[in-house]
Amino acid sequence: MQTIYDVAIIGAGAVGTAIARELARYRLDVVLLEAKPDVGMGTTKANTAIWHTGFDAKTGTLEARLLRRSYALLEDYVAQAGIPTERLGGLLVAWTEEQYHTLPTLRDRAHANGVTDVRIISAEEVYRLEPHLNRGAWGGLFVPGESLICPFTLPIAYATEALLNGVTLKLNFPVGKVRLENGLHTVIGPREEVVRARYLVNAAGLYSDEIDHMLGHHDFTITPRRGELIVFDKFARRLLNHVILPVPTARTKGVLISPTVYGNVLLGPTAEDLDDKTNTATSEQGLQTLLEKGRAILPDLLSEEVTATYAGLRAATEHKDYQIRLHADQRYVCVGGIRSTGVSASMGIAEYVAGLLAEAGLPLRPKAEFKTFKMPNIGEAGPRPYRQAERIARNPDYGRVVCHCEKVTLGEILDAIHSPVPARTLDALRRRTRATQGRCQGFNCQAHVIDILAQETGQDPRFLLSLEGDDPPPFTLTPPADATEEGQP
Ligand SMILES: Cc1cc2nc3c(=O)[nH]c(=O)nc-3n(C[C@H](O)[C@H](O)[C@H](O)COP(=O)(O)OP(=O)(O)OC[C@H]3O[C@@H](n4cnc5c(N)ncnc54)[C@H](O)[C@@H]3O)c2cc1C
Repeated sequence: MQTIYDVAIIGAGAVGTAIARELARYRLDVVLLEAKPDVGMGTTKANTAIWHTGFDAKTGTLEARLLRRSYALLEDYVAQAGIPTERLGGLLVAWTEEQYHTLPTLRDRAHANGVTDVRIISAEEVYRLEPHLNRGAWGGLFVPGESLICPFTLPIAYATEALLNGVTLKLNFPVGKVRLENGLHTVIGPREEVVRARYLVNAAGLYSDEIDHMLGHHDFTITPRRGELIVFDKFARRLLNHVILPVPTARTKGVLISPTVYGNVLLGPTAEDLDDKTNTATSEQGLQTLLEKGRAILPDLLSEEVTATYAGLRAATEHKDYQIRLHADQRYVCVGGIRSTGVSASMGIAEYVAGLLAEAGLPLRPKAEFKTFKMPNIGEAGPRPYRQAERIARNPDYGRVVCHCEKVTLGEILDAIHSPVPARTLDALRRRTRATQGRCQGFNCQAHVIDILAQETGQDPRFLLSLEGDDPPPFTLTPPADATEEGQP
């Protein structure tokens, strides 16, 4: 007999996976449906990777509130789950007299948002903190809580804990239609596969407006706002100590320069409205704009090598806030318009959405036990296996370096392929281990990495790079037998 789930969640980005993990704490049957072959492959994998405090969010908005709540929840979670983070602090620099005069307003907004440790600092202090900055700063705002986070590990960690606690994950499952029939949501995926659920959560990111239309709502339209970024080599890391932020405008947080948890330096993003939700290409003009801005902020950065460029699409709407709405009569929650802060706000959003579902009648009865999972560390601030002599002595695969740029070992690659939410594509392996993400971008190790992946998964190496191709079969990850107490009868 086909399972009737209590809740179906569409979209396994940072937001959908966080919601799945949150619901896994309760005695419910939950299914998470994702169009791509892995979790975290949408906007969640292509952003600036800042763990925002919400200091500059518009006061009184849901976004400001959920960012604040999420920050507190993440503080515990990143430690428990081993998510790479670096608590560097942000330095917002005023480059003109006009910007300088906006600092008190920005500080007051931060304090009103509950980020009370934000303070104005003098130009002298700005240069003491960041000696390589260009001359001409008027002063700045120091935001101690702005931090770096690994946006790759986070959704995988959420999905892993969701799975271990009973959530079913269906990958390569693009939802094509949703109908409400006889009180049940009938969700139609590829090859006419049907999933039925009592409650529905739409966390489809850039496509959340289209899913919302299927339920008869036209409250917002997503306009993809492209942000292009440049990744500089690790040698550039010595040039800065904090996240260097610009004074934000009403439309964008602006171009920042930030270290990453992997030891690189990011410059970006741009902000450009497009009409194509798939256009994640970089452009000559976008990169040129970034280089000019980068030169104006941190001139020495321009002498450093570029490792990669990429672009992500923000799910911007005509509104200035998240579009999270409960339609209680339909037992449906839309989680749309999670613009430029969704990685940071994910846990706050998840808690809020669970509350909305409860309001609509979903019984939230906590399980007696919740299984946690520690993710392998891929950040530079934590221990990496190639440096752990005892670990290598126990298993020499942790001493066999496959990707020399990022010092990724065979042991880590095998772990990723055989993890609860396994890496089945090269892209999935990159995000779990950093293999092929270094300065040679896989020139030296890609063939070897593909060979290992093909061998371990039994896939044909020729097709490994094109798993996203035409109509790949859906792939279901079911929870382990001991995962959970019974869901709803
Ligand atoms: C340039 C840029 C910089 C940013 N910087 C930051 C930052 O520094 N810090 C921060 O916190 N946030 C940042 N963000 C925002 C953040 O990345 C997003 O808010 C967040 O990733 C949104 O997560 P999501 O789960 O809503 O969307 P997504 O990650 O896009 O996930 C949605 C998922 O739904 C799936 N899906 C869509 N349609 C269907 C369907 N029909 N059926 C099944 N599945 C479907 C997609 O494949 C996708 O995996 C930035 C964004 C950009 C673009």
